[in-house]
Amino acid sequence: MTSAAKAQLIRQLARLAGFDLVGITVPGPLARVAYYRRWLAAGYGADMRYLHRNVRLRAEPDRLLPGAKSIICVAVAYKRADGYVRPHPPAPTLATDAAPAAAGGEPTGRIAQYARGRDYHVVLRHMLDQLIQATRDQLREPFQARVFVDTGPVLERELAAAAGLGWIGRNTCLLNDRLGSYLLLGEAVTTLDLAPDAPAVPRCGRCTRCVDTCPTRALVQPHVLDASRCIAYLTIEHRGEIPAEFHRPMGEWVFGCDLCQQVCPYNARAPLGRHTALAADLVPAHVDLLRLLSLRSGDYRRLVKRAALQRASRMMLRRNAAIALGKTAATADQVLVALAAAARDREPIVRAAASEALARLRGR
Ligand code: SF4
Repeated sequence: MTSAAKAQLIRQLARLAGFDLVGITVPGPLARVAYYRRWLAAGYGADMRYLHRNVRLRAEPDRLLPGAKSIICVAVAYKRADGYVRPHPPAPTLATDAAPAAAGGEPTGRIAQYARGRDYHVVLRHMLDQLIQATRDQLREPFQARVFVDTGPVLERELAAAAGLGWIGRNTCLLNDRLGSYLLLGEAVTTLDLAPDAPAVPRCGRCTRCVDTCPTRALVQPHVLDASRCIAYLTIEHRGEIPAEFHRPMGEWVFGCDLCQQVCPYNARAPLGRHTALAADLVPAHVDLLRLLSLRSGDYRRLVKRAALQRASRMMLRRNAAIALGKTAATADQVLVALAAAARDREPIVRAAASEALARLRGR
């Protein structure tokens, strides 16, 4: 079978396995590695030290598997009903007050779309394993394969762009003109010789909505994200105190942030994700902040069970809840009482966040 015929077969099998996009690239040195090194050197990776490890493996993905000849890149779309919001009025910025977390009723915090369904690491890995098995069954040709889903030292978006799945937008997400940017990515590095696809052509045009919308100015320029200012990093990856300058612009977000995707015009017309496990409502879009602040270990385990939410510890979710409560519209007694209790918590980081929130509410 020719490399083109094998590539075509894998495309068909990937669709049968449930992937929305599939493309193939060669595991040669990646053109954007120089950019990645400059990005790290500028400190934009914040304290995510793992990003500094194995840069050579990231740069030369053929090192991930002896004899690697091709990389199969796949994506699953996961857009939900609130995946697009017209970018008007402008989102709050560092210079202005954030919108209140609740205009009445129980104050709630928001969860990024990708974290509300089943843990995508598990779902996509299973789908990739199925794809590799189906390929073995059909080809009857011995080959090696190694699969990744947001795990190993792999520059996923760069590979996906090289494989023609889309281009890297100004918000630094992979963007497909039909499916938008709510895409979960995976890769299979393989010794199979497969005909590669052509890269997609960038199509952001003159749009700068994502850059203009980011309330913390994390997109320091188009295509350049300073992770230390990004709400997703601050709420999910950062384990220390969140600097006070970000508390107001963080708005209601307590796990991740979708703002730079919600305003992207390509997401306006993108269809909703159709993968059942990813579209499941394991975690609500809006979580009760008072309950999150007082989250006990058992409740935490139940909340994050089988969901990508487990990336944040219980302490981090409580810290994020305290910060979000500091912006509630109504200084209801129960909010003040809960924050006062959290200001005496055993966890110094929760204490600090709750104290800051209390001072903010009392100052108002
Ligand atoms: S909002 Fe505009 S600039 Fe940003 S990724 Fe989407 S199309 Fe590109």
